[in-house]
Amino acid sequence: MASYPKFVWMNGKIVETEKATVPFFNTTLHYGAGVFEGIRCYATSKGPAVFRLKDHMDRLINSARIIGVRDFPFTSEELCQATKDIIKANGYSSCYIRPLLYLASPLPSLNLDDGKAAVGIGVWEMGAYLGQEQIENGLKANVASFTRHHPNVSMTKAKVTGNYANSILAKTESIRLGYDEAIMLDPSGYVAECTGENVFLVRKGQLYSPITADTLEGITRDSLMTLIKEMGYSVTETMIGRDQLYIADEVFMCGTAAELTPVSEIDGRVIGSGKMGPITRKIQTEFKKVVNGEHPLSTKWLDYVN
Ligand code: PMP
Repeated sequence: MASYPKFVWMNGKIVETEKATVPFFNTTLHYGAGVFEGIRCYATSKGPAVFRLKDHMDRLINSARIIGVRDFPFTSEELCQATKDIIKANGYSSCYIRPLLYLASPLPSLNLDDGKAAVGIGVWEMGAYLGQEQIENGLKANVASFTRHHPNVSMTKAKVTGNYANSILAKTESIRLGYDEAIMLDPSGYVAECTGENVFLVRKGQLYSPITADTLEGITRDSLMTLIKEMGYSVTETMIGRDQLYIADEVFMCGTAAELTPVSEIDGRVIGSGKMGPITRKIQTEFKKVVNGEHPLSTKWLDYVN
């Protein structure tokens, strides 16, 4: 059974979880002006190892820069060390990691400069985010009735807390309709991404991944692009319509939380065989080796906690 995290890293100190609180008057709580990351730590034969830790912390700092935070209180290196410290303090061999930058302000304000940037890092145990059955056999997805943000409405290259109200609408709708996850289209109708994952499809032995102005530059997606090419497949980043998903031989979603989860059905249309496709399976197997420290790419991408 997952254990409740005992400690949280808050602004340079390790504190008991119950004491890791923020005041009610907080700009991030009221208006969604915060930035965050999702990172995974894996159990390996050399102890816990964090996947692409520095890349995630650099993205966190870039997200803050995108929304206009002027003074980021910690360096990327300091946050990497803090992450290792909080994993050790909680004694986890594997976990999910959530750094969050929030704005502490005397009263909530729409002017970012009224708030002082502060950072917390929480860790907790997490299994297959989209479900164990789904990661093994595929999930059922719908195309959301909600559109992903226009890039000049909410800047989607940043992981801004407020942007996720849009993900919440789509995810809740999807679950209430009996699906597992939602695929979201951009304002022009092209496939953007999912509520917290990027998308790949396989057709006639070739891989494609949609990229639009409002697709988050996923670190898992980037890792898979490298891995897929190393495995000898061709992979193309392009604009993709929902109809191309319906006629794909295989579709899968990827993200830090979701890892690599196959899609067996979209909007009531069975994808390929309706099970995990052979190419998806090969990539999933290789990716597992990478994160478990059993692949040449592990040396490049794993950061060992001890
Ligand atoms: N898109 C969205 C909207 C996300 O929230 C995430 C999760 N961070 C992803 C894609 C996948 O990104 P990553 O692989 O970096 O976790």
